[in-house]
Amino acid sequence: MNKTIPAILFLAAAGTSQTSLAYTVYWGCGNGEPLKWKTNEVHLRASTQFDNPPWKRSLATSIARWNQTPSSFRFTVHYGDNNVALGNGQNEILWVTSLEAPAATITLYSCSGGIRETDILFNVQKTWTTSMSKRSLISYGGTARPFQTTAIHELGHAAGLLHTSGVYNIMGADWTHIFSNGRTAKSYVGEDAVNGVVSMYGLASVIVDDVSVTHWRHNGNQGLYSTHGRTRLFDNDGQVLNSYLHEGEPVFLVSRGERVQPEFTYENNGAYRQAGINLDFYISTNDYISRYDRKIGDDLIQLGRDIPLTRATLVQIPYDLTSGKIYYLGVLMDGSNNISEIREDNNATYIAIQIR
Ligand SMILES: [Zn+2]
Repeated sequence: MNKTIPAILFLAAAGTSQTSLAYTVYWGCGNGEPLKWKTNEVHLRASTQFDNPPWKRSLATSIARWNQTPSSFRFTVHYGDNNVALGNGQNEILWVTSLEAPAATITLYSCSGGIRETDILFNVQKTWTTSMSKRSLISYGGTARPFQTTAIHELGHAAGLLHTSGVYNIMGADWTHIFSNGRTAKSYVGEDAVNGVVSMYGLASVIVDDVSVTHWRHNGNQGLYSTHGRTRLFDNDGQVLNSYLHEGEPVFLVSRGERVQPEFTYENNGAYRQAGINLDFYISTNDYISRYDRKIGDDLIQLGRDIPLTRATLVQIPYDLTSGKIYYLGVLMDGSNNISEIREDNNATYIAIQIR
């Protein structure tokens, strides 16, 4: 028998409304195993509605993010399906008008057979963008929802993951699970969901490593969804410094020579624990952080693949910065490339500051 499992039924079946501290899978079959596919490769079919190149590229990028995890789970995809329907035995991705939520994933399963079909619906009436330019995104003061982050969230459901509220993760508020260095933002699966899919499907035989850093953090939940806010800048005593919004982003007020503690969220999205990751802190005159900027401090962390680490590090603002000017206090992870990573574009980010 096929059953549909919307999130609300998951809750009832699990018999709990507690927030969860890490990735969530469905235990409702009561057979001691999480509900998942019986295969590690799931074939998706995208509607002809995705034939328009920017949308096709955006969907392809979202799928590729899942195919870059260290797990053995993979999606394959066929584009141009002109005959999509729920319950037809195919795993389809389509745009609809009859949806209240921005997007939904409808999964059919049986407890003996596992997940049998999954269909991902996007609501055409919401304001989406395929652009990852920061200024267009609701995440950074713009007006459109990033299609890529929502698609990654829905694909997480398609893999078998449920909503998670207790940590910074893509299976919560997806549009604030994102990172940026410079003018564009980038989408990613993130440590918690990677850990979830590895727990269900195991590690791939090819070793995939990746560490990343972002200026977003877990700051609460709305029901089963984690909510995320920007990371903060603390003073020497751990008090959050005053800030104001500039072009949709916080700018913290600091003094020359002040000792401050920039907070960032560090993730291990890869197969194995990283025992010694160098962090270098920089002052930059723009929001793109690189090792060519002015170094002002460093730190050393270790990251297992479990839950993201949101951490503040003490550094000192140089005395010679210009009063009234906006600078960017940045961090670069693994600056000497000790870790061989599947992505190197996610190792630096920033917090904006203005000198008093
Ligand atoms: Zn969801």
